Amino acid sequence: MKRDDMSGLAFGGNKTRKLEFLLAEALASGCDTIITGGAVQSNHCRQTAAAAAICGLECHLVIGGEQSAVPNGNLLLDHLLNAKIHLETVMRKGETMDKLGDELRSDGKKPYIIPYGGSNPTGTLGYVIAVRELALQSVQFDVSFTHTVFASSSGGTHAGLLTGKKLYRQQFEVIGVAIDKRPAGEPAFDVLISGLANATAGKLDLEMGFRETDVVLKENYLGLGYGVVGDLEREAIRLLARLEGIILDPVYTARAMGGLIDLISKGEFTNKDRVLFWHTGGGPSVFAYSGDILY
Ligand SMILES: *Cc1c(COP(=O)(O)O)cnc(C)c1O
Repeated sequence: MKRDDMSGLAFGGNKTRKLEFLLAEALASGCDTIITGGAVQSNHCRQTAAAAAICGLECHLVIGGEQSAVPNGNLLLDHLLNAKIHLETVMRKGETMDKLGDELRSDGKKPYIIPYGGSNPTGTLGYVIAVRELALQSVQFDVSFTHTVFASSSGGTHAGLLTGKKLYRQQFEVIGVAIDKRPAGEPAFDVLISGLANATAGKLDLEMGFRETDVVLKENYLGLGYGVVGDLEREAIRLLARLEGIILDPVYTARAMGGLIDLISKGEFTNKDRVLFWHTGGGPSVFAYSGDILY
């Protein structure tokens, strides 16, 4: 397991790797304010708020979806990290960030807008470099992997791993487990992810020519939808806690681990395969889903 849940920024997660590049770009372009958005229990928003706090930047979060009366989990941390929270009722992908950006500009601020999940070519560089780290660790510890399996949602992690794999000539297969459906009318995941991988390679002055068929994504573990905890997630959380002392989150990593366990049970891997589960974080949301996880 690759423990990006221990990457730091107020309990860690995969957005930390993206934010290393995104915040650098914000600072280099002289911005003084960060805007991003997501769901109430967004790990991306919480890590962005932490990164902004460290850099001394004001942070505005456009947050949507249902929430409890008292902020908990990631939303509690957003408050502690001093983010300015703009609550939307239904939209949970920061749909009104541009409007907020205009308002803040007219107040004399210089905002830098980070897209949903931090998944643009700049943020995706974080997962290109992550493959370099993995390749070095493989040599250092004399282990190699045939596959890596992880939770895939806004596509930056997936696109970065594909780009990094090619750049650093790694052999493992990159298998995403989809967490969310693509909204009707938007390009399918394979189009999104291969396009983002090509754009990220372009940022590095490389021409990689990824195609839709290069994207391996399991889209059959969506259960009752984004953020809805089912038996698949509950069992994966309990199993990993009981056997390994490792906490999975109910929205992303438990769904991905549940998918991995199902793939193993269906014979997708052989005894000779070595599968790396890339733990992408999300721990703080267990506190917001306690009822769904325990009962
Ligand atoms: C955001 C997130 C993901 C998905 O990563 P993307 O790069 O958006 O596909 C997976 N796991 C956790 C815990 C996350 O917060």
